[in-house]
Amino acid sequence: MTEKMKAARFYGVGEPLRIDKIPVPKLDPGDVLVEIKACGICGSDIHIVYEGVTPTAYTPMTLGHEPSGVVFGIGSEVKDWKIGDRVTIHPFLTCGQCINCLSGNSQICLSRRVIGIHTEGGLAEFLKVPAKNLVLLPVNIPFDQGGIIVDAVATPFHAVTNRGGLKAGEKVAIFGCGGLGIHGIQIAKVCGASLVIAVDAIDSALDRAKKVGADEVINPRKENPIEKIKEMTGGMGVDLAVEFVGLKETIEQAVKSVRVGGRTVVVGLGPETISLPPPTTFVRTELSFLGSYGSTTLEIQNVIDLVAGGNLDLSESITERFQLEEVNAGLERLHQKIGNPIRIVIEIK
Ligand SMILES: [Zn+2]
Ligand SMILES: [Zn+2]
Repeated sequence: MTEKMKAARFYGVGEPLRIDKIPVPKLDPGDVLVEIKACGICGSDIHIVYEGVTPTAYTPMTLGHEPSGVVFGIGSEVKDWKIGDRVTIHPFLTCGQCINCLSGNSQICLSRRVIGIHTEGGLAEFLKVPAKNLVLLPVNIPFDQGGIIVDAVATPFHAVTNRGGLKAGEKVAIFGCGGLGIHGIQIAKVCGASLVIAVDAIDSALDRAKKVGADEVINPRKENPIEKIKEMTGGMGVDLAVEFVGLKETIEQAVKSVRVGGRTVVVGLGPETISLPPPTTFVRTELSFLGSYGSTTLEIQNVIDLVAGGNLDLSESITERFQLEEVNAGLERLHQKIGNPIRIVIEIK
């Protein structure tokens, strides 16, 4: 095999990624080398490249945390994988030994690192990862969908099912219908929500939300979302609100849109301090206010099974595809929201 590979590397905030030729990583005994076929780009990449909100552990670094591909090389201690297996990759590197890993919450591992943020990522021809991070990708799921599943779909799956604890028949409001929220709507429907209300300030995002199954839509620029949600739920409010935007305003709207005893889950990342209702309200109405970050490998497997079984349709989730050499064009379109992207995927040939 060739000794060098192409990789899209981040050098500094505001600078375009550079396509460098760097050495193909050497395998350690417990690792697998994956020949990457596709890698999604994400709002987190925009935070890194344009905003500097999420600094990488070092520079230059190969970005990309939504990769999928084919097993190309296997470390001497790896038993469960073989060359040619189609795989997707959980981007969280976890210790397996801390209190959260041991309790099944590896998404909040105390020494969690994320590929493409803390260590080399998937916007490259090859990626070395621990074998435990691989999930088998069935032949009926294309690589581009396999890539976005690990973050754009598994993150809202964790938020809705695990943190949100959605039960069949419950009513849900989804704030923000972009790359994550649109899948939050689909997952809420799959889980049996009786009513899914989508809230977004962009009308075309609401049209898309309707298409994937939202029962009602609200544009907060035109209507008061709290009043509308109360109206749509017989004055009660929803059982569960999930916020994918990360703004003070939308998070506070989400909290005010749940019923007495309701739950609010926040997935959107943002720097603003948020204020909660006073304890006289918060306590007496037993509100739950929860953060949600990423997912576990098991949840990625759950999502893959839903997609493979035809329960979850991701065929509309990839709005554009670019080649590795065009990665900056893809980032720019996501940054400027040109074409109202759900997910943009970089194909690696
Ligand atoms: Zn991401
Ligand atoms: Zn851990």
